[in-house]
Amino acid sequence: MSDKLTMALTKGRILKETLPLLARAGIVPVEDVLSSRKLIFNTNHRDLRLIIIRGTDVPTYVRLGAADLGVVGKDILLEQGAEGLYEPLDLGIARCRLMTAGPVGWKGSGARIRVASKFANITKRYFAEQGMHADVIKLYGAMELAPLMDLADLIVDIVDTGGTLRANGMEPLEEIASISSRLVVNKAAMRMQYAPLQEIINQITEVVEGG
Ligand code: AMP
Repeated sequence: MSDKLTMALTKGRILKETLPLLARAGIVPVEDVLSSRKLIFNTNHRDLRLIIIRGTDVPTYVRLGAADLGVVGKDILLEQGAEGLYEPLDLGIARCRLMTAGPVGWKGSGARIRVASKFANITKRYFAEQGMHADVIKLYGAMELAPLMDLADLIVDIVDTGGTLRANGMEPLEEIASISSRLVVNKAAMRMQYAPLQEIINQITEVVEGG
């Protein structure tokens, strides 16, 4: 076991925006994270190492204390709930919108609709708030295919430029939430390791607030 602090980063698109932000905060991995297949990286910060995992796993690692802090999209926090986590900072990176979307010109009929999404909890909650009953079909990717194949009427997905929707004959409808990546911290670690964690949070906060 190491007594270093561990920060869990979300791999993929968010990682590409997280690494420059951490670098500006003075936190630099000792190896090139993007070209490596390793999962654990030491940093120039003697007491901090990084692990690179899927976004959906970041809250689990941080909640259970396998990582002390992490970077994860708000979409995942809304879907999984943020119990056991502090969310001290909006990093303002990987901005996008969580939206309903449907085939161009789609007009709903009837009170019952089928909605495909990997965000099953958010989707159920959203349609319930609209007073509609949605049969939620949980998928793990390529949501925009579901209406084309008549698996669903609508989808709930992340929209950035809207290019993916357009390329598949779909259009965005309603915005459910505005999304960006957040810093999350394990609640017990925040008490037990307050000084080193707060120092890292402060370093990153300065960069985020400095714009
Ligand atoms: P776009 O075609 O630019 O609207 O991008 C939409 C697709 O890119 C979505 O299906 C998402 O899977 C992915 N995407 C875009 N932005 C983000 C983000 N900030 N976090 C996670 N996935 C994203």
